[in-house]
Amino acid sequence: VGMNAQEIGKIIHREPAEIVKKLFLLGVMVNQNVSLDKDTIELLAADYGIKAEEKVEVNVSDIDKIFEEEAENTDYLEDRAPVVTIMGHVDHGKTTLLDYLRNSHITAGEAGGITQAIGAYQLERNGKVITFLDTPGHAAFTAMRARGADITDITILVVAADDGVMPQTIEAIDHAKAAKTPIIVAINKIDKPGANPNHVIEQLANYELIPEDWGGDTIFVELSAKMGTNVDELLDMILLQSDVMELKANPKQHAAGSVIEARLDRGRGPVATLLVQQGTMHVGDPIVVGDTFGRVRTMTNEKGKDLDAAKPSTPIEITGLNDVPEAGDRFVVFDDEKTARAAGEERAKEAQMEERKKNNSVTLDNLFESLKEGEMKEVAVIIKADVQGSVEALASSLQKIDVEGVKVNIVHSSVGAINESDIALAEASNAIIVGFNVRATSQAKAQAETDNVDIRLHQVIYDAIDEVESAMKGMLAPKY
Ligand code: GDP
Repeated sequence: VGMNAQEIGKIIHREPAEIVKKLFLLGVMVNQNVSLDKDTIELLAADYGIKAEEKVEVNVSDIDKIFEEEAENTDYLEDRAPVVTIMGHVDHGKTTLLDYLRNSHITAGEAGGITQAIGAYQLERNGKVITFLDTPGHAAFTAMRARGADITDITILVVAADDGVMPQTIEAIDHAKAAKTPIIVAINKIDKPGANPNHVIEQLANYELIPEDWGGDTIFVELSAKMGTNVDELLDMILLQSDVMELKANPKQHAAGSVIEARLDRGRGPVATLLVQQGTMHVGDPIVVGDTFGRVRTMTNEKGKDLDAAKPSTPIEITGLNDVPEAGDRFVVFDDEKTARAAGEERAKEAQMEERKKNNSVTLDNLFESLKEGEMKEVAVIIKADVQGSVEALASSLQKIDVEGVKVNIVHSSVGAINESDIALAEASNAIIVGFNVRATSQAKAQAETDNVDIRLHQVIYDAIDEVESAMKGMLAPKY
């Protein structure tokens, strides 16, 4: 109470002028700085389809804790669909595969529905449902992980049979391994004359991806995303893998999950695609999403169909939030709207403060402190160098460092400049990046600044090793 049109505009994302105009039409003539009484605010809110309520003070601020509690609620479990992400080198066929799947497998009873790009979709195979994240590429995947959302159950690694293992193939493997998701290898483009699936299999053996026929335990499918050859077999393999994983969730509780993507729609306000991971979501549910809150006003699937209820593993698009959340944010449904609003506002305040003192990522300078606190068992490092020989030399020397039982874990190593994908992986894995005779791209540099990722560049291998070891021992010379 006591807010003016300008403040209200900020909350509901409308221009103050629009609100003043609306008030005028409602018979209230004010400028945007005049504070409004309770009745007027309620009138205005009702006109926007929002319910205005007076502020309540509550102490529920830790959405992650609530989320964990909900996630641990295993009184009642049902099978849920696997959530699958497709990764691989550029041009190896990720988009073609996602498009083929979307167009060829339409959920029964919904044939003819126009599919919208909401960031995820579900399809049906032999009566079983699979959820695909529609954002190919590991940057999106890892950005989500960096924000705490491990939503992928299975990674499909697409490798073109005529091109073989490429730099981003290796990145994708490392990203999937860091997220601890099983990998199914899809050897694509087998219709092409130059296709050589066996060569791909040989190459992948170097990354511990070995098919069962060769004594390993990785599932390989040879397919053509363009022709649709063996795509059904890939789906069968996903279902097989998911059976082994016994994926379950409790649909009989408040819904909780993660944001896949979100944007501001001019007409509808904030729109978010959410993945329900626990519980069942209903229209009208009071909800906190990251630092935003509201009440689920509309809920649709990727075909634009209205849903009343959404069970675990269902991607949904919702409206009704006061602001746009970020991909990877968690969401939780609350008992009542007052509590949701209070929790949302509390979190927004906290997030602002966080932003101000944001510096909790690991750097070589604070490494020793973190190690002393005893919480770290290993130091995560990403290595980039100009030639493969240097990558290997650095990796093996760093891995030999052992300071009081704490070891170096090489999360990823490859030849080439430090890129944005490296920064995303570093942020998600709390890793330090060591570069030898390479530089960071300007985008990567900017991203590292924002994410507080520590990059150390060297021209002498011994210096690089010495620096990491000194940091682990707390003997790093201060930088001037
Ligand atoms: P992405 O960058 O991994 O998403 O790759 P795209 O899906 O955009 O595919 C890159 C190119 O490869 C496109 O021209 C596709 O038509 C082609 N392509 C994808 N899959 C196949 C396939 O199975 N066979 C053939 N011949 N071409 C394919």
